[in-house]
This record gives sequence, structure tokens and C-alpha cells, in this order.
Amino acid sequence: MSEVQILASVQQFMARQHGHFIDGQTIPAETSERIELINPATEQVVSTIAIATQNEVEKAVQSAYEAFHHAWANTPPYERGLKLNKLADLVEQHAEELAQLETLTTGKLINLARHLEVAQTIVFLRYFAGWATKIHGQTMQPSIPSMNGEKYTAYTLRQPVGVVAGIVPWNFSLMIGCWKIGSALTTGCTIVLKPSEFTTLSLLRLAELAIEAGIPAGVINVVTGKGETGQYLMNSPLVKKVSFTGSVPTGIAIGQQAMKNDLTRVSLELGGKNAAAILADANLDEILPTLLQATFVHQGQVCAAPERFFVHQSKYDEFTQKATAALQQFTMGSPLDEASMFGPLSNKPHFEKVKHYLDIANQKDQVICGGQTIQGTGYFVEPTLLKVQGTDDPLFIEETFGPVVDVIAFESDEELIRMINHSRFGLTASIWSNDLAKALRLIPQIEAGSVWVNMHTFLDPAVPFGGVKASGLGREFSDAFIDDYTELKSVMIRY
Ligand code: NAD
Repeated sequence: MSEVQILASVQQFMARQHGHFIDGQTIPAETSERIELINPATEQVVSTIAIATQNEVEKAVQSAYEAFHHAWANTPPYERGLKLNKLADLVEQHAEELAQLETLTTGKLINLARHLEVAQTIVFLRYFAGWATKIHGQTMQPSIPSMNGEKYTAYTLRQPVGVVAGIVPWNFSLMIGCWKIGSALTTGCTIVLKPSEFTTLSLLRLAELAIEAGIPAGVINVVTGKGETGQYLMNSPLVKKVSFTGSVPTGIAIGQQAMKNDLTRVSLELGGKNAAAILADANLDEILPTLLQATFVHQGQVCAAPERFFVHQSKYDEFTQKATAALQQFTMGSPLDEASMFGPLSNKPHFEKVKHYLDIANQKDQVICGGQTIQGTGYFVEPTLLKVQGTDDPLFIEETFGPVVDVIAFESDEELIRMINHSRFGLTASIWSNDLAKALRLIPQIEAGSVWVNMHTFLDPAVPFGGVKASGLGREFSDAFIDDYTELKSVMIRY
């Protein structure tokens, strides 16, 4: 085993007594209570973070409010774009540092942290930077009767909503945090981020880089802590929009509270129990490497990744045999070792949750392959395929958010669609087939925000992303995010 060397800058950053990032600088915490950040591969404490009080959250929101009114909303769009691009440049310059911070706190393979998380963060920031100069309203011609020759014209203004609360999960904290930063800053909004209590460091570091990029103090603030800190943040009267990514129960609670808070705008990117449909004509040798990579990337802790494989009856045995053989080749190891193909789960509560599902599967003899936690140090579990006992089986219904996937046989297209849609979730799905005509007929029947053909889990800033049913509310990326971060003001003029 050979692990990458931890950079001195990373060691120094982890050794700091972190506070909150408010008004362009790190502010020491008001209270002494700390949260330990644990490396999930070694179970060692790598750093600690503070827990923001309501007072500290209010200071961060006030700073974002002042920056919105006195700096950012009035910054010319071109300059906003330049600064976001400069931030992307700095992320590129500090790529290894940010990748190591992510790996040390999430257990994400170092190559995934480098080539997906950090690389895509740069791509997304640059994409959003490009939008700054392209957000506009429209002109209209009203049909109001003219009695004395008067005329009318109308136009719409797109105005930034104001201070955004960005609440971020632990699986891709840097990238998801930057989806929110990019959307907010390009439209002229300012933001207070609340990263996950498990993976906070990369966004604290990013906030410092934003100051180096020339983004004014107060435009990006970061308060750290658990759910309570998130509640203080979303309940602040100066917050005009909540952008939340996380689990369905938290998302529903946030949505309900946002409506009570005088209809605070809210967008929710939540969980899934995503389906991959492997049709009768699929060539398994061709599709399996791509399908398994898309499924087990980051140990399955990806909201968009599949957790249910629907395999045509004629291919079921071949599929389970070949997928089992392929998964047995996954080399499990330290996420800091570039040769590892599979790392630990990101944190202990999540490990316990996934273990609970594996225990049920083992008790009920539902394991096709894998199914074990690894004894010893670290939150490692095997990549697992399961049989399910019908569509009411909890293993068919509940999101594990781990490397645990059901394999279910189907015979007809009708049965396939009925089973895929038998779920409260509707985030993503995929069809694996060379029969494009059949795929095109199935796509409209699938209840999901994204459907891929012969691919899964790939996100691109040009393509909208979001869930239907309990998987979410609103869309990110493309031009779809603009509605969520701006208010449309109608202006009508008589002349
Ligand atoms: P979570 O809901 O437990 O926490 C998400 C964030 O919300 C954290 O920062 C947490 O501290 C905060 N939080 C918790 N309770 C809160 C409350 N009452 N008020 C305000 N903030 C609160 O989710 P998680 O375990 O961090 O992430 C895993 C979940 O996220 C999975 O369900 C996964 O599918 C989902 N996810 C969805 C997407 C997407 O784009 N749809 C992306 C990544 C993850």
C-alpha cells in the first residue's frame, strides 16, 4: 500500500482551531463545544469544527445582507462572472489541497476527489460565471384598450432574491456547495453556507479562496455545526431563499418551515431509489463496467446512482454471475492509495445505517454477493447485490445511500414501468439497451427527473438536474436555476 503524501498546507489547515467564516474572515467561535471530524478510513480525529450559535448565524446573515445591498447586487454582471472565474482558477491552483481535505474527511478515493469532485467544481463555477451576463427579462405588448391614443408597453426584470441559505450534505460537499455558490453569485445573490458537520473543511478553505479571488467580504459566509445551525440559518428573517441538498425527511421539514416563514423560497435536492433497467437485448459484457462504475462510485454514496437493477428475465442469471465476478475484482483499500478502487463509507452513523440493511438482508438470506462489513479499523463494507422479496420489501423501498443494490427480474415492459415507478422517490433512472425505439417509448413513462440511456450518474452543468415526487422541488443547472434565484418583476408603462 502506498498512500499519497499529505501536503503541508493540508496538515496546517487541519491543525487550525476553526471558527466560522463571516464577513471575509475567520471569526473565533463564541462557544467551546466542538465537533470532531473523523477520517472514516482510520477512525482518527483529523480536525475539529465549531458549532454556530444563533448569534453567530445572525452575524453571518447580516454580513450577507449588507454585502447584497451595498456590493454584490450592484456589481456589473461581467465583473461578477470574472470573479467567479477567478475563484475557479484558484480552485484549480489549490486542487490537490482541496482533494486531500475531501478525502481525509469523506473517505472519497483520492482520484475521485481530484478528477470528479474538484475538477467538476471548476467546470461548474466556470459554467455559472458565464451566465452572469446572460440573465435578462423580456418585453411585452399589453392589449389594454386605448381611449385617447395612449399606448402601453411592458417588460420584466430578473432581480436577485437576496440572501440565500445553502445547506449542504456530506457526500460531495465542495462540489454541491459550489453549485449553490455559483447559482447565487452569478444571479447577484449573496450566500451563507452551512456545510455538513462531517465534511466541513473544504468549504471553509474555499471561502478564503473567494476573498483572494476578489469576491467582496460578506458575499460568501460559512457557518459550521449540525442541523440546529441549519435551522437558525433558514429561520433568519433576512434569508430570502433556502437551497437545500440532503435527505428526504430533512428536506420535507425544511420545506414546511420555509412555507411557515412567510413563504421563503426553497429548492430541495433530495434522495432517490434510482432504477437501472437492463433490457433483453443488452450486451452485458459491454455495459457492466460502465454500469457498475456508475453504481458503486464513492461507495454508492451518490444521490443520482442506481440502487435498483431491473434485469430482463432472460438475462437475470447471466447478469448476477457476471456482476458478482466483476465486483469481486474491486480492490478495497485506503482512499489515499491511488490503486484502491473502493474505500470506506463516509461516517459512522451512515456505516451503522448501511449495516442495519445488510443485517436484514443476511437474516432473510437475500444476499447475492457481498453483504458483509469489514472487521477492523474504518467504515468499510463490501459492494453488495441483493434479491428482494417483492415491491413491499423495505430493501426495495428505502434509500440505503450505500453500495447496496437490488437485482430484480422483469418480463414485460408494463411490469418494468410499474416496478420502477413503485417508489416515493423519482430522482434518476437509466435504460441499458441498443433498441433506441424501445428506450424512447419507455422514457416518458418513467417518473424521474433525469433518465439516461446506456449511462447513469453523469451530471453536466448544461443539463437540468432535480427530482420529481419526494426526490425534490426545483431544478439546478442549465438555465433552470435562474427561476429559483431571481424574482420576476413585471413593469407596465402607459405613455
Ligand atoms: P441530511 O438531510 O442529514 O443533512 C443535510 C444537511 O442538512 C446537513 O448539512 C445537515 O447538518 C443539515 N440539517 C440536518 N437537519 C437540519 C434541519 N432540521 N434544518 C436545517 N438543516 C439541517 O443529509 P445527509 O445525510 O448529509 O446527505 C445524504 C442525503 O442527501 C441522501 O438522502 C442523498 O440522497 C441526499 N443527496 C441528494 C442530492 C441531490 O442532488 N438530489 C445530492 C447529494 C445528496
